[in-house]
Amino acid sequence: MTAPSRGTPVRLDPVDAPEPTGLGRFGEFGGRFVPETLVPALEELEAEFRTAWSSDEFRAELADLLTNYAGRPTPVTECHRLSERLGLRVLLKREDLTHTGSHKINNVLGQALLTRRMGKQRVIAETGAGMHGVATATAAALFGLDCLVFMGAVDVERQAQNVFRMRLLGAEVVPVESGSATLKDAINEALRDWVATVETTHYCIGSVVGPHPYPWMVRQFQRIVGDEAREQCRVRLDGADPDYVLACVGGGSNAIGTFAGFIDLPNVRLIGVEAGGLGLATGKHGASVSRGVPGVLHGARSLFLQDEDGQILEAHSMSAGLDYPGVGPEHAELAAQGRADYVYATDDEAVAGLELLSVTEGIVPALEPAHAIGWLAREAGRSVPAGTTVLVTLSGRGDKDAAQVAERLTGEQLE
Ligand SMILES: *Cc1c(COP(=O)(O)O)cnc(C)c1O
Repeated sequence: MTAPSRGTPVRLDPVDAPEPTGLGRFGEFGGRFVPETLVPALEELEAEFRTAWSSDEFRAELADLLTNYAGRPTPVTECHRLSERLGLRVLLKREDLTHTGSHKINNVLGQALLTRRMGKQRVIAETGAGMHGVATATAAALFGLDCLVFMGAVDVERQAQNVFRMRLLGAEVVPVESGSATLKDAINEALRDWVATVETTHYCIGSVVGPHPYPWMVRQFQRIVGDEAREQCRVRLDGADPDYVLACVGGGSNAIGTFAGFIDLPNVRLIGVEAGGLGLATGKHGASVSRGVPGVLHGARSLFLQDEDGQILEAHSMSAGLDYPGVGPEHAELAAQGRADYVYATDDEAVAGLELLSVTEGIVPALEPAHAIGWLAREAGRSVPAGTTVLVTLSGRGDKDAAQVAERLTGEQLE
């Protein structure tokens, strides 16, 4: 058997199961809860995506970009020293090695192609850690589109490097001061802009959230992660599958893209790792599956952190990419079905995970996937039995977090 490896062109199959039912329903979650003015644009986008995804020409064009621009397929790396340390067999799916340094590029290249097909000249996006903003600005530069990125003012502050990257790439970055001045507020502003500009503008959402068709469409663009990993694991594991598949969950796109490759294998345990922040008991966390309740926000019904009156609570995580008080509707449904389990790692455990992977494997992960490593380090030999084979999606690299982690570990600011 041959597995996808560098130099082999990416192949995209027209796989589309499981498609959401009705207006993008995953069980009782999902849907399309938006102002009237946005409905035609969402219908146009859904129709365009459906046609494109079943077109050999579109998939070949996207596959070419993923191969020759984004650097896919990404490898699966066996972690010998980390495995020995934890008493497990740990494999990493290396999304950190893509162009722009995270899985976000897979989705934005797909949406940029759709933008061009729809004849639109302008894209807007929201961003938390800045990775989706950088990816969107990158694709906009590549396709010659105007690009505006909304970013919470707090995030602008803590991700200054990514803000500069976006501006270098020709995008305009708009700091959002309202609410908690983080990702949730950036999405509100982006939706507001879109209502006013919908005829000329595509809203490039960065995760499996928002109204239909986004959760489904973004999952399809991200499933390349899981589809590649499944084949690569089988080659490495003599035809076997991993026992556990682990990914961090912010909105949930790297996790759902990974899970999609394994979801029909009932013996593979799917685990999403949420941001435990300062600990669930403190209320300062981003564990929206573990602690969320059903509600409607940003165009879809899903699980959100809310108070008793249904007011959305602020999420907390030292990692800007996980600092969102909700989760994609398909995750809410996978949790309801019990097909995937959702756990958490705290800020401290994530930093410990980041340090552990750095010194054992020479790989500095982004803080988001460091949560998955941190959880695994805590649970190895406990809820994850010794000898278990675990695939972890390393959704991005740690460069963007270096200054923040340095300050936390040494108390000093990097110049
Ligand atoms: C954005 C981001 C995440 C969180 O987003 P998901 O949609 O949950 O994948 C995780 N890791 C990295 C590196 C990111 O940039």
